[in-house]
Amino acid sequence: MSHPTDGSCIFCKIVADELPCFKLLEDEATIAFMDINPVNPGHALAVAKGHWPTVDVIPPDILAAVAKTAQRVAKAAMTELKPSGVNLLQSNGEGAGQSVPHLHVHILPRYPGDKVRLNWVYTPGDKAEIEAICNRLKVAL
Ligand code: AMP
Ligand code: ZN
Repeated sequence: MSHPTDGSCIFCKIVADELPCFKLLEDEATIAFMDINPVNPGHALAVAKGHWPTVDVIPPDILAAVAKTAQRVAKAAMTELKPSGVNLLQSNGEGAGQSVPHLHVHILPRYPGDKVRLNWVYTPGDKAEIEAICNRLKVAL
């Protein structure tokens, strides 16, 4: 199966075996390996083999394959590392903190007292505003 590639992309180089990684698994459409800057022990990445930067441009079946790989890695982390929880995180664009523009899902085991800051305090929103945005999004679907 051929994939779109970008010669200057770190993850494309890992997929092509031009850069090393601590590989967990690979299948036809995806690869999973350990994050080299782990925010917590067990931090891993599920990555599409093809170069698609963000969620809006990747084919849905490839996105599904990435989700399946992320699930496999998350299950292994839960069984083997017994974290207190696991976050799956997928960032799109600089504003979301994406640093590698090649679609990937972080598998992020969580431990009591860790310093990861992803979770926010619930504050009820304005219902009219929520509904107005809901209506705008429905038109865009
Ligand atoms: P994001 O900021 O969501 O784009 O995440 C990119 C992730 O890729 C970061 O957590 C980096 O630590 C990780 N990363 C960058 N280069 C490598 C590499 N060569 N091997 C493994 N992980 C990497
Ligand atoms: Zn790439």
